[in-house]
Amino acid sequence: MPENAASFLETVMREERVFAPSPEFASRARIKSQEEYENLWNEAQQNPEAFWDKIAQTELHWFQPYSQVLQWNEPFAQWFVGGKTNASYNCLDRHLNTPWRNKAAILWEGEPGDQRTLTYQQLHREVCKFANALKGLGVKKGDVVSIYMPMTPELVIAMLACARIGAVHSVIFAGFSAEAIADRNNDASAKVQLTADAGWRRGKQLPLKETVDAALAKSPSVQKCVVLRRIGNQVNMQEGRDFWWHDLMQDASADCPAEPLDSEHPLYILYTSGSTGKPKGIRHTTAGYNLYVKKTFEWVFDYREEDIFWCTADCGWVTGHSYIVYGPLSAGATQVMYEGAPNWPAEDRFWEIVEKYKVNIFYTAPTAIRAFIKWGDRHVDKHDLSSLRLLGTVGEGINPEAWMWYHRKIGGERCPIVDTWWQTETGGIMMSPLPGAIAAKPGSCTKPLPGVIPAIVKEGGQPVEQGQGGMLCIAKPWPGMLRGIWGDDERYKQQYWSRVPGMYLTGDNARCDKDGYYWIMGRIDDVINVSGHRLSTIEVESALVSHPNVAEAAAVDRPDEVKGQALSVFVIVRDAEPSDELREELRQHVGKEIGAFAKPDEVWFTAALPKTRSGKIMRRLLKDIASGKEEVGDTTTLEDLNVLAKLRAHEE
Ligand code: ATP
Ligand code: MG
Repeated sequence: MPENAASFLETVMREERVFAPSPEFASRARIKSQEEYENLWNEAQQNPEAFWDKIAQTELHWFQPYSQVLQWNEPFAQWFVGGKTNASYNCLDRHLNTPWRNKAAILWEGEPGDQRTLTYQQLHREVCKFANALKGLGVKKGDVVSIYMPMTPELVIAMLACARIGAVHSVIFAGFSAEAIADRNNDASAKVQLTADAGWRRGKQLPLKETVDAALAKSPSVQKCVVLRRIGNQVNMQEGRDFWWHDLMQDASADCPAEPLDSEHPLYILYTSGSTGKPKGIRHTTAGYNLYVKKTFEWVFDYREEDIFWCTADCGWVTGHSYIVYGPLSAGATQVMYEGAPNWPAEDRFWEIVEKYKVNIFYTAPTAIRAFIKWGDRHVDKHDLSSLRLLGTVGEGINPEAWMWYHRKIGGERCPIVDTWWQTETGGIMMSPLPGAIAAKPGSCTKPLPGVIPAIVKEGGQPVEQGQGGMLCIAKPWPGMLRGIWGDDERYKQQYWSRVPGMYLTGDNARCDKDGYYWIMGRIDDVINVSGHRLSTIEVESALVSHPNVAEAAAVDRPDEVKGQALSVFVIVRDAEPSDELREELRQHVGKEIGAFAKPDEVWFTAALPKTRSGKIMRRLLKDIASGKEEVGDTTTLEDLNVLAKLRAHEE
């Protein structure tokens, strides 16, 4: 092994394209130039506490002012110490004395095509009533409420009702199994469960209540369960434990003042996606988180009063928490919320919604973009997407060619794209272009937001040289950061604060180019070792995706008796049939794009890749398969077990 083996990653990507915002876009943006961005970033870097103090005073409502901006006792942060605020108040009540009272907060579309609109005032009323319903069930400040609901407005209402009375919500994506719900309920000692009779997914009914019944049999801490009637199917209601949402709402008063809560009062627990192992119960608190998601929402999405925003994530993930609920609503935004699948009743559903509601800002995941590419342009061509002015991505890196497709096909070459890098742990967006100020490079999340100070280091904490890849860390606390792992301070310290002294370890690799642009290189544990080179998963995958017949790719290394390590790639083909010729062509293509040493040893053709339920590729499982392991790691967050079985059987 060469001397550099455990220190830095090589980069082999040669992406030179740059896309600057148009002068029209920049002139109307909140932050209009690179210079303006740099001034803001420098101001925050020089004195983070003064920077956040100034913003916090005006952007949040304070029942009681704070006495100290930050108390940092590494690795435990407290922001806005001594202050009292309420996230539900900031999202709702603050708008009620303004003309926004009558503005649509949520334009909701159900999968079967039903629609509802809720103004801020209507949403406020529903939240107050449901908060009283929760109190009636005995929910008190600090109690944990587990939420397993479809993407209906009631899911948002439930979250805000918890926040209103100081209950801590734990939202569990409504696709998880009974086992996964019970694990999370037990880990968090949840007291009340919220669910629905069923939910719609691709025209089918997901029996949510039935799943919850099985989960509650193994969740001894849960005493009560509230059931929303979404579909009207027959469900079992257990006397004394189960209550209909509509029955509770009928009798509930609409008068429920928001509880003044300490800045550091826990707002929610949310489990990570489980891409790299067993999910972690991330704990977020009130004031710092609320401030961070509001401000980043305004900066990154350049939100204007008249805009219609649409984030396609589910509230079961952090993206939904931060950029459906707490960010947009604190900012008084109008947004579309959609219940179902992108390919129901047909593959053009998203574009139909964009056209119908005249969406201006559209935020989705690379996994969805790759699916759109695979489904074909004809679904997009049917619709008028001219209302769009800004696009975003989140969740995984985006391969430059997928970025180009998004730019051309969805953005009509006129919309800036914000590639937002962040994590459940970071609470909000950490790196992203500010769309009026920073020119984009396809595949790069560009620059850190004001107040975010990244560092790229080798094992041991030494900074890498300019341009080299290494472990991405954050050098200073920021208001949206996690405050811990629920009930497990030791795991928190060990996971994020032990390997690199004095910094938050993100678990991702990255490099920073000569222009100060950051490029995420994949997970620390997924580095590909071949022929003495340490390569990033995303760069090898992007080389594959730049071939016209590749829709999606995943790259892993595996032990090899002869070479030490071999490179295996998994490929989903488009506009072609899998064949040995194509296999060879792809090997040559990677050789040409990256170098002969990186020619894959094996190309596996597959119809699907193993993904988390949030849509991220689970490379650790592919690595096990490529290595011929019978037993694979934690699969509880895997979307579809069949994918693994097919891969093992070498079925295409
Ligand atoms: P677990 O922590 O349980 O393994 P996870 O990391 O997938 O799960 P999330 O918090 O949902 O859980 O995802 C955050 C991760 O997603 C980041 O650490 C990064 O690897 C990836 N990611 C998110 N956005 C981007 C982006 N814009 N570019 C590259 N990677 C991204
Ligand atoms: Mg993670």
